[in-house]
Formats: sequence, C-alpha cells, structure tokens
Amino acid sequence: MTEDSTRLIHTRKSRLAPATVNPSVDRGSTVLFDTVDALYGNKPTYGRMGHTVHRELEAGLSALEHASHTQLTSNGLQACALSIASVAKAGEHILISDTLYGPTRRFCEKYLSRMGVEATTFAPRATDALTELIKNNTVAIVMESPGSLTMELHDTRAIVSLAKSKDLITILDNTWGAGLFHKPLEIGVDISVQALTKYVCGHADALGGAVMTNRDDLAADILMMAEYWGLSLSSDDAYLCLRGLRTLDARLKTHEANALEIANWLDQRADVASVLHPALPGHPDHAIWKRDFTGSCGLFSVILNTKNRKQGETFTEALRLFGMGFSWGGYESLAIPCDRQLRRTKADVIAPPKGALVRLHIGLEASSDLKTDLERGFTAMAETS
Ligand SMILES: *Cc1c(COP(=O)(O)O)cnc(C)c1O
Repeated sequence: MTEDSTRLIHTRKSRLAPATVNPSVDRGSTVLFDTVDALYGNKPTYGRMGHTVHRELEAGLSALEHASHTQLTSNGLQACALSIASVAKAGEHILISDTLYGPTRRFCEKYLSRMGVEATTFAPRATDALTELIKNNTVAIVMESPGSLTMELHDTRAIVSLAKSKDLITILDNTWGAGLFHKPLEIGVDISVQALTKYVCGHADALGGAVMTNRDDLAADILMMAEYWGLSLSSDDAYLCLRGLRTLDARLKTHEANALEIANWLDQRADVASVLHPALPGHPDHAIWKRDFTGSCGLFSVILNTKNRKQGETFTEALRLFGMGFSWGGYESLAIPCDRQLRRTKADVIAPPKGALVRLHIGLEASSDLKTDLERGFTAMAETS
C-alpha cells in the first residue's frame, strides 16, 4: 500500500470520544438552531449543504487529490457540468476533448450553447493543433485522460503550460486515475473532477461526484454555482462513497494487476486486433502514462478482429461472468460493445476501429475464470458471421 492508503484511512474529522470508527449518517433537510443569529449564521445551515458525513468525504477527497477544496455533487455528470459551468459565461468559448465522456460532451454542445457558451472539440493527442483553436474569448480547456472508450491520453503537462501562457483554466476528468494513480492538481491542472460512482464508491451501489481545486477563486465560483443549481448528495450515498474511499488503494491495486494480466493475454490473441490500455508498452501514449500516472485501473478497451458489428455484439452477449451494463469501477467485471455510442469528430492517431470496439472493466474475480469466460465469447464470435 502507498501513503495514500494511510491518508485515506486516517483523514477523519475530530470526534468526541468514545466514537465509532465510521461517522454516523445524519439524514436531514432541516437543521435546528437555538438562536436567530445561529440560524442565519455560518453555513451549513440546511441539508442541501450536507452534514458530518459530507465533511468527512470532502476531507478524504481533498487529501487524495491534494486539493484545498472539494465540492460534492449527486453524480459524476453533475460534477463535470458544474466544473465547466462555473468557469464559462455567455459570449465565451471553451475547448473540449473529442474523447470526453459522451454525456459531458452533450452538456457542452447542447446545453451550454443555449446559455451562449460555444464549445469546440480538439483532438486529444494533438497539442499543437489545440493552440490554433484558441480564440480571444476562450476561457477553458476541458480534458479527460485517458479518454472515454478509446483511451487516448493528453499531454497534460504541455496543455497546462499552454493554458497558463494564455490565462486559460484547465479542467480534467480524473475518474480513470481515481485520484490515486493520477494527481492532476499536482501537475498544474486547475480543477480535477471525479465520478465517485466508479472506483471511490467501488461497489456499484451509489452515485456521487466531486469537483476539486486548490484555487480559492475557482472554489468560490464552484460553490456559488452549486448553490444556484441546488446541488446535493444524499447522506447515504456520501456514506457509501466515504466507506469505499478507505479501501480504494487496496481495491485498485487488485483491479490493476487483474486487468494487466487479462490485457496482456488478449494482446497475444489472433482474434484481437489491438488492446487499448495505456500501461501496455505498445499503446501510443505509453510514455505519457509512465510520466504522469503511477498505476492503471481495471478499465480498458479492445478492438476485436471482426468482420461486422454483429460479431462484437455476439462476443459480449456470450459472456457470463462479465455483465453487460453501463458504468464501471465496482468489484465485478463488465463488458460493453461501444460501436453504437462511439462518436468522434477529429482524426486521431489511434485509428478509428476497423473491428468491433469493446470496453472491458476487469473486476476482482480470479483472472483464470475471467479468461475462461472471454474464451466463451471468442468461440461465439467465431461461430457468427
Ligand atoms: C461515469 C463517468 C462519468 C459520469 O458519472 P455518473 O456518476 O455516472 O454521472 C463522468 N466521467 C467519466 C469519465 C465517467 O466514466
């Protein structure tokens, strides 16, 4: 275990002794006060702003991401939307990665355009081309590394230095790195965002999101926008995310080892055209991964050697241990064919898949059992034409 593990276990607010290891869950909208001054006094004064369990979760996430401020939201998409809406106003322009999580991209293209903010996509791996997209009214660059589904990495350090030279704010969706394997704020990113739904919760039983920063000015804007929108996270979900946070390091190391074993095994197979996993030496962004990340999680994609989309869908339908469903980060393995949702508008160095693109989440099962299950998929795939 790393020192992060110690911090995640011991970052606790002081409590009156004797106390249980975990905080109690205060469920409540109304908070009662004895005096009018207290009622109108320092926040939090209402359930939307959270209770003890929220303060503990914020403290743990701040320790994890080396942030001074953490704003909780009810899910990851809300955290992405909040971070972006906090920094862009009508008449301004933002740059968003072509590999951004689909619903975040939709928020930028469909919702922000209604609010007078223009969004332009950039190719995630072409930092020079990004420079040319910056306009006089550009205010922010929104990244996700690795990108959803196709796993390209940004040269985040180069983008940060470009952004600083032009006075732009940088935002990075850090759900894959989970704050453990990647610390964007440490390399100069202004705002890090996570879907807590994934690894922090880790058990597929709650939704949550978080926006983290070290900048007081941005933290104030994020808090203000969260209050305008009325964002909140239920105490029960906050509790589940906090509980997951304590074992994040131990779980992620097992996801990492299991996923690397499966990825290397897949990489040798003739029925797999390529494995899109940044920790494999053959990944085109492997050098960036080595420079900026300290590990890899259970999520990666493969391009199967298929003749048609149907074969890729048969592959996933034949699996029994791998569930077919959206989301990831829980203890269980998942597989989804991605071709129906993949949308790219920029040419990229990772060529558009010729075969079926399948995203795998490797859970905590025995890798030998997972391989047997995947063999079942390959057999079904071969029998389909
Ligand atoms: C899942 C996910 C989100 C959204 O999180 P939800 O809690 O499902 O809303 C955002 N970004 C990335 C990269 C994700 O994988």
